[in-house]
Amino acid sequence: MMDLTTSFEDMAISLFIGYKALLISETPVACILKDKKSNKIISIGYNYTNSSLNGTQHAEFIAVKRLYEHSKDIDFSNIIMYVTVEPCIMCASFLRQLGIGEVIYGCSNDRFGGNGTVLSVHKDTFLVDKPYKSIGGIARTEAIQLLRNFYIQENESAPVPKIKKNKDIENKLYPPNLFNLTKEEFVDFYGEQRLDILENKEQEITPIPHKAYRLKDLISLKNLQEVPFLEDELGLIDEEQLNEFYDLFYDINDDSTIDFTKAIRKFNNKKRHLTPE
Ligand SMILES: [Zn+2]
Repeated sequence: MMDLTTSFEDMAISLFIGYKALLISETPVACILKDKKSNKIISIGYNYTNSSLNGTQHAEFIAVKRLYEHSKDIDFSNIIMYVTVEPCIMCASFLRQLGIGEVIYGCSNDRFGGNGTVLSVHKDTFLVDKPYKSIGGIARTEAIQLLRNFYIQENESAPVPKIKKNKDIENKLYPPNLFNLTKEEFVDFYGEQRLDILENKEQEITPIPHKAYRLKDLISLKNLQEVPFLEDELGLIDEEQLNEFYDLFYDINDDSTIDFTKAIRKFNNKKRHLTPE
C-alpha cells in the first residue's frame, strides 16, 4: 500500500503558503523545496507578480532565487518541489535546466502547463537537459479551490460581475482528474490500489487509498510556524487564520469523491482589511 501522507502534508504546507499569498492579493500559487537527504524544507516560493509588477516572479523562481542567495553551489538533483499548480512552460524549462530532482504538483495548469498539460517540457526528448520526474494530483481540488477564490474576488471587483454570487464557489464541479502519466508511471508512484482513479477521472487521490481525508488532519499550527521564511515574509499565523484556511475546502470521502455536503467558506478580502495585522 502506497501511503502518501507525507506528500500530502508537504502539499498542505504549499497550499497554506498560497493562502498567505492570497491575503496579499497575489494569485494563490506556492511551493516548497525539500532537500531529499535531510528531509527539510530549504526554501519556499509564492507568486509575486502583482506586488513586484514583474510577470516572471512565479513561485518556482522565487523559491530557487532564495537558495542562490545563500549558495551558488546547489545540487538540484537532491531537491524535490511541491507546487500547488503544474509549473508553466517557462518554469518547467527553468527547472529542467537546473536539474531538479522531482516535481510534485496539485492541479493541472490548463493554459500554460509545461509538465504534460500543454507541453511536456519535463520529459521531452528533444531537449538536451536531463528529464525530471513530475507527478500531479496531490490535493488537486484544494489547489483549484484556492484559485477559484482568487478569480471570483477579482471578478466581483470588476464593474460588471460575470458570475452570480455564491453559486460560483460552492458545489461547483471540478474538471476531470487527468494525470499526465502513463499507466506505468502512475502505478510506480500511486500504486495499483489507486488505478481506478486513473480510469475514472472523477475521483481524487487520497493519502491512504480509498480513505477519507481532511486538510485539517494533515498540518498543524506548529508545522507551519516551523516553515522557514513563512512568518517572516507573509506575517504571523494563528489558529484563527489556520481555521479560516481549512474552511475554504471540501473534504474527500472514503470513496475518493468530493464531499459537497460540507459548507465551505468563501474568501473575503474586504474583511481582511478590517482585522488588525
Ligand atoms: Zn511559471
